[in-house]
Amino acid sequence: MTEVNQDVKGDEAKKRAEEVRKNLTFSFKNLWNPENQDEINAIMDFCEDYKVALDEGKTEREFVDYSVELLKVNGFKAFDPSESLKPGDRIYESIHGKAVMAAVIGTADPLKGFNLVGAHIDSPRIDLKTNPVYEASDMVLLKTHYYGGIKKYQWVAQPLAIHGVVILKNNETIKLRIGEDPSDPVFTITDLLVHLAADQMQKKASEVVTGEELNVLVGGIPFPGGEDIKERFKLGILHLLYQQYGFTERDLVTAEIEVVPATRARCVGFDRAFIGGYGQDDRVCAYTALRALIDLKKPLKRTALVVLYDKEEIGSGGITGARSQLFPSVQKRMVRSILGREPSAIELQDSIECSTMLSSDVAAAFDPTFPSVFDPLNSSYAGRGIAFAKYTGRGGKGGTSDANAEYFSEVTRLFDECGIPWQVGELGKVDQGGGGTVAIFQADFGISVIDCGVPVLSMHSCFEIASKIDIYMTYIAYKAFFEKMRA
Ligand code: MN
Ligand code: MN
Repeated sequence: MTEVNQDVKGDEAKKRAEEVRKNLTFSFKNLWNPENQDEINAIMDFCEDYKVALDEGKTEREFVDYSVELLKVNGFKAFDPSESLKPGDRIYESIHGKAVMAAVIGTADPLKGFNLVGAHIDSPRIDLKTNPVYEASDMVLLKTHYYGGIKKYQWVAQPLAIHGVVILKNNETIKLRIGEDPSDPVFTITDLLVHLAADQMQKKASEVVTGEELNVLVGGIPFPGGEDIKERFKLGILHLLYQQYGFTERDLVTAEIEVVPATRARCVGFDRAFIGGYGQDDRVCAYTALRALIDLKKPLKRTALVVLYDKEEIGSGGITGARSQLFPSVQKRMVRSILGREPSAIELQDSIECSTMLSSDVAAAFDPTFPSVFDPLNSSYAGRGIAFAKYTGRGGKGGTSDANAEYFSEVTRLFDECGIPWQVGELGKVDQGGGGTVAIFQADFGISVIDCGVPVLSMHSCFEIASKIDIYMTYIAYKAFFEKMRA
C-alpha cells in the first residue's frame, strides 16, 4: 500500500476514503432485488412447495415419510448394502422411521470422503406422558411432558393437533394425525381467564404456565348409563378411541404421541416476503438440503449425502439422534458398496475423516423489537442469505465444535466463487443465553464441519418466521456445496 498523501483535501480526499472503504471493508447486504421479477417468482414458487413440506411433516416421523415419498418420486431407491453402487445412483435409508439419509453417488474415490449436509427434523413440541388420560370436572384431559426448549405460555389457548403412532398388541401400527383436516376437531390447553389472573400476572414468564399445567382438553361427553358410572367421561373417550382406532389405554402406554400447533404454514406480510409456520427449526434446512440433493442433475464428483436427524432439540441422544453410531455406519456401508469390496477399518475411517459437512441449522435472526439481546455487528439478519455460525454454545463457547479457520475459509471461498451470498451471526450477545447444534457430534466422528442455515425469528414458537429469499438462497448454497466442494 502506498503512503497516504496528507496534502489531499476536500472531494479528492473523500474519493480516496471511499476507495479504501470499497476495497478494504466488508459488510453483508439485503438480497431482495425488486427489479428482478423472475427471481422473485422463482423464490415464491420454491416456498409454496416448502409450505407443503411443513404441513405434511409436522413430526420427525411424518417428515421422514414425506422425504421418502419425495425421494422415491425423484428416482431414489432404498439402499441395499448387499448390492454395489455406481456413479449416478440415488439411494436413501430410513433410520428407524425417525431419521433419514439420502445420497447421490459421485465418480470420486469414496475413500476421499463425501460432501454432507445435515439438518434435524424434530422440533420443540408437547409429548403425551405414558399414562396420559384422566378426567376432572366432567372433562377429559391428557397429561403431557414438553419436548425441547419452549416458552410454555405460548402453547395455551391455541388450536393443537395430535400426531403419532400407537402400536397395537398384534404389532399393527396405528398412525394418528388429528386436527389437520379442516373437518377434524382440534385440541387445546386452557389458559386462565384474565379476569381471575391477578396472581398469575405477577409470576415470572417461566412460571406463568408450568409443565404440569400443560394438560390437553380432549373430551366432555360421558359414556351412557347415568351419573353412577365411575369415570364415565374418561370411559366415553376411551370407548370412542377404541371404536375409531382400535387402541386401549394400555396401548397408549407404549405409544409415541406428539401435540403440535394445528395451524398451517402461511405467507406473512402484504408482500409475502416471509413464511410463518411451526417447525421451521429445522425443517427449513432439512427441506432445502433435500431439494438441493434431489435437484442435482449433472454427474457429481464427490458423493452427496443428506442426513436428517431426530432428537436434536433434546441433546441429540437416542438411536435416531446425531450422536448415534448408526449414521457413520450407514455412510461406511455406502463406501463399501461403491468400492465393491470389503474396505479395511482404517480405510473406512479415512472416508469419514476426509468428508466435509455443513451442519445446517437455523440461526437467530436479529429482531428489531428486541435489539438488546443481540450484538448488531455479529447477528444474522432476515433477508441477507444463508448464515454461518463458526461456533454456537453458551458462556465461553461451551458445547460447540468451533470450526477451523481453514475450513470456514474454504467453504466461504467456494460460495464466493459460485456467487452465493452469505452472512455470519452469533446466537445473541455473549452470556445472554445460548444453544447448540449437531455439528459437535460430526466433529467427534472426525468430519470437518461448520454450521450454516436460515435465520429465523420467533424461534421455537408455534409460528416461526423465515424470509423467503433466505430459504431459496440456502437451497442454492447447499446445491453448490454438493456440486463443487473439493470437486
Ligand atoms: Mn432448536
Ligand atoms: Mn435447530
